[in-house]
Amino acid sequence: MTFGPENNELTMEELPSFVSHLECSYTGKIYPADQLHGLSEAGKPLLVRYDLDALGNAISKEDLLTRQPEFWRYREFLPIRKSENIVRLGEVMTPLLPASKLQKELGCGEILIKDEGRLPTGSFKARGLAVAVAMAKELGVTRMAMPTNGNAGAALAAYCSRADIETFVFCPQDTPQVNVQEIAFQGAKTFLANGYINDCGKIVGDGKDIMGWFDVSTLKEPYRIEGKKTMGLELAEQLQWELPDVIFYPTGGGTGLIGMWKAFDELETIGWIGSKRPRMVAVQAEGCAPIVRAFDKGDRHAEPWHDASTIASGIRVPAAIGDFLILDIVRESNGFAVAVSDESILQAQSECATEEGVLLCPEGAATVAALRQELTTGRIKPTERVVLFNCATGLKYEMPSDHQEINLMEGVDYNVIRQS
Ligand SMILES: *Cc1c(COP(=O)(O)O)cnc(C)c1O
Repeated sequence: MTFGPENNELTMEELPSFVSHLECSYTGKIYPADQLHGLSEAGKPLLVRYDLDALGNAISKEDLLTRQPEFWRYREFLPIRKSENIVRLGEVMTPLLPASKLQKELGCGEILIKDEGRLPTGSFKARGLAVAVAMAKELGVTRMAMPTNGNAGAALAAYCSRADIETFVFCPQDTPQVNVQEIAFQGAKTFLANGYINDCGKIVGDGKDIMGWFDVSTLKEPYRIEGKKTMGLELAEQLQWELPDVIFYPTGGGTGLIGMWKAFDELETIGWIGSKRPRMVAVQAEGCAPIVRAFDKGDRHAEPWHDASTIASGIRVPAAIGDFLILDIVRESNGFAVAVSDESILQAQSECATEEGVLLCPEGAATVAALRQELTTGRIKPTERVVLFNCATGLKYEMPSDHQEINLMEGVDYNVIRQS
């Protein structure tokens, strides 16, 4: 199959979207659909609401079986009204990989790794940004901007280049170099600022009037959540509509956690799943754990984290605008928030690579480290079936180099090779 606009015509009929309105996630105030929106008047994220009765009548689980293995198969659950606005780069369904050796070693229930590194631009940021860019196109946006720790910027750059939308991307100075390069190489005007992600967010916010760009920062527009929601829909479908006992999610801004929870609610409303929900575990790094601190204190909002530092750059988010949504979900699901050390992340990453042949990103490896830790504390029971999210390909991150040199001038010594 191909991924050009011609493919949209072949596989997607023109369908009405079932969006009814937008709603402030904090106050419940209603906003009209089909207009450009940022945050609500209360300064909180907006959520997209659907006519779920109509949606449920328009599609059945069986209908999905005839569709392409990509997240656009859930288009009725998405806000885009005209399929011509969809920009595609090959949005595959990502595999659920059993980690049986790890399971045996830890003596726990089934472990499934959802490997999101297979998506375009190598991370699950593609889900959110494919939908956000399609909606921006639909609503006539021609210039976008965002602050990013790397993967979101890469996804924005790629989808916007393909959609002919101009993009400006601002990275904090400790963004991995490969991310800065891929963002620029895929067509975004790219800036590296000597500060943190929130400083970059301020550049975008303050520049809105002067630059006339649309701010596509995490949760500051309503549609990235809808894209991330497809993780929950896809997971449910892959598990035959039987959700796992626990989901470990490396949490930065929390878009995916919020999106999945929204997916489960929508699926229950249309009767595709029951009321059983996974326990949601928000995993952070010890060097940047604002959500964990707020969870432990019993707070609904998180204080910003100072001097954030971790190798897991995707979860290096000192202040999340959707903090109360993350914390509400974690508590409602009877889950928890937990921090792990960079050391345990590297160890888990190495173990999964050598034992399971799965090259996790550090953020994904953090979920493995958290599972190990929480089996020890007893917060995870050895009978529970868990899904761990690997959010990006490990190839984008630095790896230890462990090899030996061969000097061809001296000839090849197979004894040395055998003993290596
Ligand atoms: C963005 C990102 C995260 C955090 O995702 P949120 O949904 O914003 O919490 C985790 N891991 C990686 C690799 C990321 O790029």
